[in-house]
Order: sequence, then C-alpha cells, then structure tokens
Amino acid sequence: MKIKYKNTDIYLLLGNITEIKADAIVNAANSSLMGGGGVDGAIHRAGGSVIHEQCIKIAKTSGGCPAGEAVITDGGSLPSKYVIHTVGPVYRGSGNNEAELLSLCYINSMTLADSRDIRHIAFPSISTGIYSYPVSLAAPIAVNTVKDYLSSHPDSGISTVGFILFDNKTYSEYEKIL
Ligand code: ADP
Repeated sequence: MKIKYKNTDIYLLLGNITEIKADAIVNAANSSLMGGGGVDGAIHRAGGSVIHEQCIKIAKTSGGCPAGEAVITDGGSLPSKYVIHTVGPVYRGSGNNEAELLSLCYINSMTLADSRDIRHIAFPSISTGIYSYPVSLAAPIAVNTVKDYLSSHPDSGISTVGFILFDNKTYSEYEKIL
C-alpha cells in the first residue's frame, strides 16, 4: 500500500527490513547499542561487524542511546547505506511517557535523516515486539508522527518513508491508520 502525503510517498510493505534498499533503515535498538533480539539482531547479523564496531564507538563516547533518541552508523553489507538506531520505550501499561518517547523515535530518526540528506527512510514497527507496545496503539503514533514531521518540515528532503512490517497483524494495523 502507498499514499502520497505532502510530496512524500509513504508506503507499507510486509517483509524483512534487512532486505530493503533505502538510503537508511531504522533499527529498533536497545539503549546499550550492543545488539539484541528481533529486528536489532537481524540487522546486526545481516549488516556485519562494521555496524557493531561503530555502535561500540558511539556507546563509548556517549554512554549509549536513551529511549526516544537516535544515532546513525553505516549499513555495512546491508543494501541500505545507513542504519539509524533508535530506542523505543518498553511498554509498561502507559503512564510512563511511552507515547511521547515512541513519537520522539520517529521525529529524531527523521531529523537525523534530514541532516544526512537521506531521501528514502524505512522504519520497522518500533517497540511492538520485545518491548510489548500494543500495535493498535503504536501504529497511529508511528504514522501520525511521520505525517506531522512532514507537515512541519516543508523543506525536508525525505521523499519516501517506508514501514516494513513483519507480520500480517502489524501490517493490517498500519493499513487501518494510513
Ligand atoms: P522492540 O524491542 O522495539 O519491540 P522488536 O525487534 O522486538 O523491537 O520488534 C519490533 C517489530 O519488528 C516487531 O513487529 C517484530 O515482529 C518486527 N521485526 C522483527 N524482525 C524484523 C525484520 N527482520 N524486519 C522487519 N521487522 C522485524
């Protein structure tokens, strides 16, 4: 599925984000940046040691990446040039700023993309796996935050935003919103 929003194509794809050829794919990382399960493990395995080495450097200088923030590395052997690592909130039943933090993941990833002239960025469904964010709540935050960013940044160079969704339930929740 694909729509046009403010001159930007926003598309949904059922698939594996490590196979996507974008300028940058986004990783749902953890704050240590040392890799983990889910999409994080898949990206580190497919991208090779370059990603891990650059993450170690970032973690050493900044102490890691808190929830809501984003950092960037090369894509190593992935088809995409860069990986933007952002850390979603762990969902504990709301009331812990989860929605704001999740929204910040998308805003900070897109801001970082714009600072590197990245035109095509592809996101996974941040926080809805191991971090337990209900996808029915996370999907509207993801889609609406991306749209709000594009509305409030008319000079953004981002021409294509993808959501690469790993299973049918996740896809259908994003489809409802988009
Ligand atoms: P988090 O810890 O932020 O919840 P997860 O990686 O556990 O991150 O899950 C986030 C989403 O990414 C889930 O919908 C999960 O099914 C999905 N996912 C896992 N592997 C991949 C992959 N290779 N490509 C795209 N999405 C993936």
